[in-house]
Amino acid sequence: MKSQTLDLTCKLIKKASITPDDAGCQSLLAARLRLSRFRIEQMRFGSVDNLWARYGDEGPVLVMLGHTDVVPPGPLDAWSSPPFEPNIRGDWLYGRGAADMKGGVAAMVTACERFIKKCPRPAGSLALLLTSDEEGPAIHGIREVIRVLQERNESIDWCLVGEPSSRDRLGDVMRIGRRGSLSGHITVQGIQGHIAYPHLARNPVHDLARLIGELSARTWDEGHPPFPPTSFQVSNIKGGTGAENLIPGQADAHFNFRYSPAHSRDSLVEAVESTCLDLGIESKIEWRLSGEPFISQPGALTRALREAASSILGIDPKGDTGGGTSDGRFIAPTGAEVVEFGPINASIHQIDERVGIEDLDRLSEVYESVIERLLWPR
Ligand SMILES: [Zn+2]
Repeated sequence: MKSQTLDLTCKLIKKASITPDDAGCQSLLAARLRLSRFRIEQMRFGSVDNLWARYGDEGPVLVMLGHTDVVPPGPLDAWSSPPFEPNIRGDWLYGRGAADMKGGVAAMVTACERFIKKCPRPAGSLALLLTSDEEGPAIHGIREVIRVLQERNESIDWCLVGEPSSRDRLGDVMRIGRRGSLSGHITVQGIQGHIAYPHLARNPVHDLARLIGELSARTWDEGHPPFPPTSFQVSNIKGGTGAENLIPGQADAHFNFRYSPAHSRDSLVEAVESTCLDLGIESKIEWRLSGEPFISQPGALTRALREAASSILGIDPKGDTGGGTSDGRFIAPTGAEVVEFGPINASIHQIDERVGIEDLDRLSEVYESVIERLLWPR
């Protein structure tokens, strides 16, 4: 029999759901979950589709969290097969979103279906929460849904995120927290002038270079186990008019901090701004916080996941806080226990993104086993 999870992953890959366009992924999933008698709520905010599907009224509440959007495929001719046509070669399924995270979403949905069939009266509620804006600004996605749920006192006890957490083999890594992410756009003000008369000008490119030199050489902290050390990186830099004999009036750069709980938004803002002052640099900085760092205290969900991974995959997942941000950052502050566990992430956002075909079924089994361990009536 053809794998249900593989089949559903293929159907999702065929829908070119580049952020924030959901391209019908969520209505496909909603239709299936309705058949399993989930209550469906489609919550659209701005141009973002979100889906809240819940089975049961009682607590505790276990939420499976995911996103249906994908990043753009990049140059099409670089792909070995078209990115939105699922293609099986060897042991792998290729397509944009295969690993991040249509495979994980499909595995969560098939796990929910099998569980509800076996256990129509669970000890608590099982819910699925999906957004089409995880890879984008994430303003109208999970953040908004959580606001609505909190307004009506719908709380979440456990949240399992199906993001691709695994490194070398399925289940070797689970994420138990994430670093904070803070972006800045700095504009350094200089005085424009003739390059032959530097004493009459002030060169903002040189000022910016001194600042970047200072910030990139700094040891921000030694890490804060299990968090790696805080890192400062410049993503874009701009200055100059194109003329070779002109000192420009302004220069600007975009930078980002991925930070451990040894820092906060405020401590980083203060550190950068006081460095500008110390260096005598006249600047203006616009800040954007994507999320403060979070860490989940291990509880019943982490235990259930460890047991499920060891019995089905024969592996004890290592808890880690690496990777980019994820929507877990919006759930953790509500007090829920949040753990991320999903496919191998080696090819995510790349050309020829892929997921292991066998891994899809095994992942779905692990999810089902986690649900059983938490919601089976006893
Ligand atoms: Zn993702």
